Amino acid sequence: MSTTHRPFVGQIVHYVSHGTPVREDGSQAFRPACRAAIVTEVDPTYAGRIGLAVLNPTGQFFHSLDSGGCELLPVEAGPLKGGTWHWPEEV
Ligand SMILES: [Zn+2]
Repeated sequence: MSTTHRPFVGQIVHYVSHGTPVREDGSQAFRPACRAAIVTEVDPTYAGRIGLAVLNPTGQFFHSLDSGGCELLPVEAGPLKGGTWHWPEEV
């Protein structure tokens, strides 16, 4: 799927979880990871910002547009960054 494709409510995308804090040596106990997320809202003026219902293995949480939403950061743009979303990678 191209990065210019417009998300729609009900679609499944990837949300990047925040890893645990970076240690002094630069390592992390848990690095940012892809999580399944359902699109709950799409910013009418910028489709790269969406609301998400995130499904973690042990719980779920919600990011509404009112609380800032989530910004698109395509995987081609570099390392995974916590708090962003992207189109699911091809497998
Ligand atoms: Zn992903």
